[in-house]
Amino acid sequence: MLPPGTFAGSVVAITGGGTGLGKAMAIEFARLGAAVAILSRKAEQRQRGIRAVEAAGGRACGAEVDVRQPEQIARAFDEVERELGPVDVLVNNAAGNFPVVSEDLSPNGWRAVTQIVLDGTWFCSHELAARRIAAGKPGAILNIGATYALAGGPGAVHSAAAKAGVHNLTMTLAVEWAHHGIRVNELMPGMFPHEDMAPQMRANRPEGYGEAGKQIPAGRVGRLHELGWAATYLCSPYAAYVSGHTFVIDGANWLRRGLQMPEYKPVREQIRVRPVR
Ligand code: NAP
Repeated sequence: MLPPGTFAGSVVAITGGGTGLGKAMAIEFARLGAAVAILSRKAEQRQRGIRAVEAAGGRACGAEVDVRQPEQIARAFDEVERELGPVDVLVNNAAGNFPVVSEDLSPNGWRAVTQIVLDGTWFCSHELAARRIAAGKPGAILNIGATYALAGGPGAVHSAAAKAGVHNLTMTLAVEWAHHGIRVNELMPGMFPHEDMAPQMRANRPEGYGEAGKQIPAGRVGRLHELGWAATYLCSPYAAYVSGHTFVIDGANWLRRGLQMPEYKPVREQIRVRPVR
C-alpha cells in the first residue's frame, strides 16, 4: 500500500514478532525497507520471525526479553541498537491469553495475562520514549489491542481488562509525548486466524476457522497482510498527524447486533477447553 522504501533507515522493534500477527507485521515493515528486531522469550520463535523478515528482503535481529521485566527490555533495546541502530518504531504486540470463566480464574492466571499485556506495553513504551526523548528524535508506538477492550470480554476477563488499560494508555501517552514527536496509536484486530495460534485458543474451536467468516458481517476473517498494511500506515510518515487513534480492523464485527440474537449461553457452556488454573 505504501511506496517502497517508506521505512528505509528505520528500526522497528516488534514484541512477539516471531509468531502470528507480530510476524505478519514484521514482514510488511521489512517489505517497506525497515530493519526489524524481534523481541520475545523463546529463541526458536524469534528465529522464525528473523527468517520471515529476511525472506521479505529485510535486515533482522532478535533479542531475548520477557516484557514483564523492565531491565530485560533495556538490555534488549541495547542489543538491537548495537545490531541495527536505535529503535524508532515500537509495536507492542506480545500477549498471553486463554479462555476462562471468571470465577475459575486463579490469581496467577490473572497476573500472567495482565502483566504481559498491560505492564509489558507500558514498560516497552517507556523504554522507547525515554531513549527517543533523550536523543531528541521522534518515534512511533503502535499498541495491538482487541475490541473487547471497548465492550467487555466475557470468557477473557484478564485480557479484556488489560487491553482496556492499553487502550487508555494509548490516549494518555499520545498527548503526553506529542511534543516530543512521539506518536502513539492502537490497532484492534478482529478475527485473524493463523498457523501459530496458541493451543489453548485453537482447542476452544475444534471445528477450526474454515467457516468462521460466516460469523462476521464482512463475510470473512481477516487476512494477515491487511493487518500489516494498517500497522505500517499508522507508523509511517503518512500518518504524521495521527496520534491517540484506535484503528479497528475487523470487518465490522464488534459493532454487530442482530435483529434476532441467538439464545444466550452462559460463558461456561461456550468454553470448550478444560479450565486453566
Ligand atoms: P500469538 O501468536 O500467541 O503470539 C504471542 C507472542 O507474544 C508470541 O510471539 C510470544 O513469543 C510473545 N510473548 C508472550 N508472552 C511474552 C512475554 N512475557 N515477553 C515477550 N514476548 C511474549 O498471538 P497473536 O494471535 O499473533 O496475537 C498478537 C496480538 O494480536 C496480541 O496482542 C493479541 O492480543 C492481538 N489479537 C489477536 C487476534 C487474533 O485473531 N489472532 C485478535 C485480536 C487481538 P514468546 O513465546 O517467544 O515470548
